[in-house]
Amino acid sequence: MNDALLEDAEQRFHDACEHAQLSVDAIERLQLPEMSLKVSIPVRMDDGTLRTFAGYRVRYDSTRGPAKGGIRFHPSVTAAEVTTLAFWMTFKTALMDLPFGGGKGGVAVDPKELSAAELERLTRGYTAAIADVIGPDLDVPAPDVATNELVMGWMVHEYAKITRRHQPAVITGKPRQLGGIAGRSSATSDGAFLVIRELRDRVLDDLDRPRAAIQGFGNAGAQLATLLAEDGWMVVAVGDSSATIVDPDGLDVAKVREHKDGTGSLAGCPVGEERERDAVLTTETDALIPAALEGAIHADNAGELQAKVVFEVANGPITAQADRILDDTGVEIVPDILVNAGGVTVSWFEWVANRQGDRWTAATVAERLEERMVTETHTVADLADERDLPLRTAAYVHALERLSGAMDATGTADLFANGG
Ligand code: GLU
Repeated sequence: MNDALLEDAEQRFHDACEHAQLSVDAIERLQLPEMSLKVSIPVRMDDGTLRTFAGYRVRYDSTRGPAKGGIRFHPSVTAAEVTTLAFWMTFKTALMDLPFGGGKGGVAVDPKELSAAELERLTRGYTAAIADVIGPDLDVPAPDVATNELVMGWMVHEYAKITRRHQPAVITGKPRQLGGIAGRSSATSDGAFLVIRELRDRVLDDLDRPRAAIQGFGNAGAQLATLLAEDGWMVVAVGDSSATIVDPDGLDVAKVREHKDGTGSLAGCPVGEERERDAVLTTETDALIPAALEGAIHADNAGELQAKVVFEVANGPITAQADRILDDTGVEIVPDILVNAGGVTVSWFEWVANRQGDRWTAATVAERLEERMVTETHTVADLADERDLPLRTAAYVHALERLSGAMDATGTADLFANGG
């Protein structure tokens, strides 16, 4: 599964290369990550036994700036998965024109099986193990699947202890009290909402009250459901790892969130009708919004989708094979590196504020986020029209041309083109 993920990423990269104006040197430099680290993290468990976990950090490319990307805690984390995600981060930061490269990290663990104290020891152990390869000018981690502000707080604190320096800009997505920024925890859904707002007429033909089905009801999925409902959308289905909840007339999102917050899952929700877990993907809807893990839409279920458009809030929720099926059936895809880029964009603001020793207001964050998301959304849409490309390819082409421009500006290509 994870090797397939890396193969998919490489294939999309090569597809995009055919449509982009790039130097051969840039393509060659993107073949392998700059640095991959695998570490062992021994953790003393509450019962006195010792357990060892595998941790990773990959810096894919840092031509445009320090590597940037989240840390995930999930049992499926492998070297191939982290490498793929770091590769995508390289494109995402270039697409948004942030002064960063791409990185990603993770620990193969099911955090639900650990007590809070065990999770803290694991996080601190992981931070110590990767301390040499992170830093405000080197590689800046942030939250990702199953990590949050609390985990980032432990990381920034541990890093300060190891380096004997207060360095808040080493981690973004921290608690406010430790230098975090207003709006970071809602940044992914806020950014996704802006992309959807800007492209709505293009992909949904001026529908009055479009329907949305959302797979994944964690931070991003649940907050986006609220934003869409407030904007007049009908949220007809939501799903998590326990169940799908449907109502063709639109769910009362506030009530669904109340149930999820109270019980930790959607199963047993008092509103809507309960269906099996994956039913959300094949519900009749206008927009399908996968906001969970990669690979949710694959060759076996892509043909059953009932949506006109898919907005990818998760990273890599559609496999390359499924992409082709959706292309044949006329389902439009708005790609992850654009739709979910709000998170890393607000991370950039946090990093800037930390380095300036400043605090930004929530209003400044919202205004600057809107400017970035709207600008790059229209750049991608215009490029898709100009070169007659699907939005995903256009997003990759746009990112690749920026990356290639930076690589070429280092001057080495010219040097060798002239025979050294
Ligand atoms: N994990 C998020 C992503 O995939 C945010 C990364 C960051 O803020 O650095 O984009």
